[in-house]
Amino acid sequence: MEFELSEEHRMLKELVHRFVQDELMPLEAGVLQREAEGKGAYLLPADMARIDEVSKNLGLWGLDAPSDVGGFDLPMVAMVGVEEEIGYSVTPYTLPPDSPNLRMLMATVNERQREAYLAPYVAGQTVSAIGISEPGAGGDPAGMITRAERDGEDWVLNGRKIWISRADHADFTITMAVTNKEKGARGGISAFLIDRETPGFNVLRKIPMIGGQATYEIALEDCRVPGWKLLGTEGQGFAPMQIRLGTRRIQMAAWSIGMAQRALDMICEYAPQRVTFGQPLSERQAIQWWVADAATRIHAARLMTYDCAWKLDQGRDVRLEISMIKAYATEMAWEVIDHAMQCYGAMGMTKELPLQLMASKIRTMRIYDGPTEVHKWVVARNLFGAKR
Ligand SMILES: Cc1cc2nc3c(=O)[nH]c(=O)nc-3n(C[C@H](O)[C@H](O)[C@H](O)COP(=O)(O)OP(=O)(O)OC[C@H]3O[C@@H](n4cnc5c(N)ncnc54)[C@H](O)[C@@H]3O)c2cc1C
Repeated sequence: MEFELSEEHRMLKELVHRFVQDELMPLEAGVLQREAEGKGAYLLPADMARIDEVSKNLGLWGLDAPSDVGGFDLPMVAMVGVEEEIGYSVTPYTLPPDSPNLRMLMATVNERQREAYLAPYVAGQTVSAIGISEPGAGGDPAGMITRAERDGEDWVLNGRKIWISRADHADFTITMAVTNKEKGARGGISAFLIDRETPGFNVLRKIPMIGGQATYEIALEDCRVPGWKLLGTEGQGFAPMQIRLGTRRIQMAAWSIGMAQRALDMICEYAPQRVTFGQPLSERQAIQWWVADAATRIHAARLMTYDCAWKLDQGRDVRLEISMIKAYATEMAWEVIDHAMQCYGAMGMTKELPLQLMASKIRTMRIYDGPTEVHKWVVARNLFGAKR
């Protein structure tokens, strides 16, 4: 049994560590300030352009993309190391291309779509979004009602999508819709590539979320999509969508480890310095147990996440592990960050420290890509042997 990353993947993790320390951490003050002013937690275009250039020159683009479209074909274990490091900073930055939609595209594109969508996406020339959730179907996407109907060579979509990240500026949104009502999630849901400017693809409103984030509501009104933009096989959209969700969930577990590690590092830095009632906080058992529990649970989450990624790389079915780590790692990070905020007292309540932004971020992560309770339900249902 091998518990270490390979030399190559360890060096990559170290490179991303340095990128985060040198490039992302110095931008945090500006992100925190903009968020505190109610403008949202975002990077200025000039900063974004500069760090894009730096990360590209470091060879950090297309890490897990196929080599025939310019990627490095790295396995999921390597990506866990990368995302752990990225999770350490609250500066919002994704190394292009974002892995979840990448992996969904990799599993589905035909030659034409590979050239028109996958290749520019891997090259970092386009941004994508995913449209699954609807007002009546979020945690249970099988309940979606957005319809896609054939009309000659085209498809015509009608329905509503909500909570869609990046929908306002994404070049294309992978949109899930029902193509056979009777079959539903078992052969009746398909995926479509919809470009931002497509008539009938209407971004209705921006919805401000906690932590300076935003999502969007979309109305699909007789939205006509050419037949070749059906992604994958008609009716078989649910399985590649699960690949996409699974990738994000592993990524989220890795981010959670990075965030929890940051919160723990902050406690370890502050507790020995802060004296109350004649003793440093680090001498108090309450704080010592927070630190010990955090270190133990981060270690557990890390082992579980690498185990899951490794099994996935071996081609094994990891649906159960993915639900376990998505629920465990996000809840773990939530608690560690909360303890760090408590340890810092009033300072932990300010918008000057990154802790509150980390708390808001992880709070949303306990919901999106499946709420904690749904993942625990999946695990329990599996143990009870129940079939849906
Ligand atoms: C910041 C953010 C970004 C998002 N981005 C996207 C995006 O880009 N694209 C997209 O399609 N969607 C996106 N979403 C939507 C997200 O995936 C859904 O919100 C999520 O799946 C939950 O769906 P829901 O909000 O409808 O909650 P519901 O499904 O209504 O669930 C509400 C609550 O009920 C409980 N619950 C539900 N089912 C069960 C069960 N079986 N057992 C026990 N308890 C249960 C849970 O506590 C859950 O939190 C985003 C959400 C957020 C917060």
